Amino acid sequence: MKFSIARFWREKQAHYRLKAAKCKSCGRVNYPPSSICRYCGSRDLEEIFLLNEKAKLLTWTIIYSVAEGFEDKRPRIIGLVETIETKARILAPITDVLPEELSEGTILEPVLRRINEDGEAGIIHYAIAYRPVIKPVGRKED
Ligand SMILES: [Zn+2]
Repeated sequence: MKFSIARFWREKQAHYRLKAAKCKSCGRVNYPPSSICRYCGSRDLEEIFLLNEKAKLLTWTIIYSVAEGFEDKRPRIIGLVETIETKARILAPITDVLPEELSEGTILEPVLRRINEDGEAGIIHYAIAYRPVIKPVGRKED
């Protein structure tokens, strides 16, 4: 198979914009996108992007063991979030916050984060992460 830069780039762009598939039959959003709705089995889906949507934190887990080279990133938090409007459920790293500052329902926004760098090729890899919209430091916003 011929390597296609265009296709690679297109898929990267889709990944960075949080491409999902909304079911026209049951209305639920499939993420990652799928050609068959995992909720009702319909094949009638449309492409949507979730990058401009805030999400709320449903649950999370803390990972203390991290891959070599990522020691400065520990501990990592992986959260299950639900986008506010489309109700899509996304598993993603939670960033810019300490584990003890999180609570169920924390409102988050997606950000693009550098995850590693391939020194020789000069390729920098990014991934979507979520961070709190308001940093929870014990104060109330009015
Ligand atoms: Zn469906």
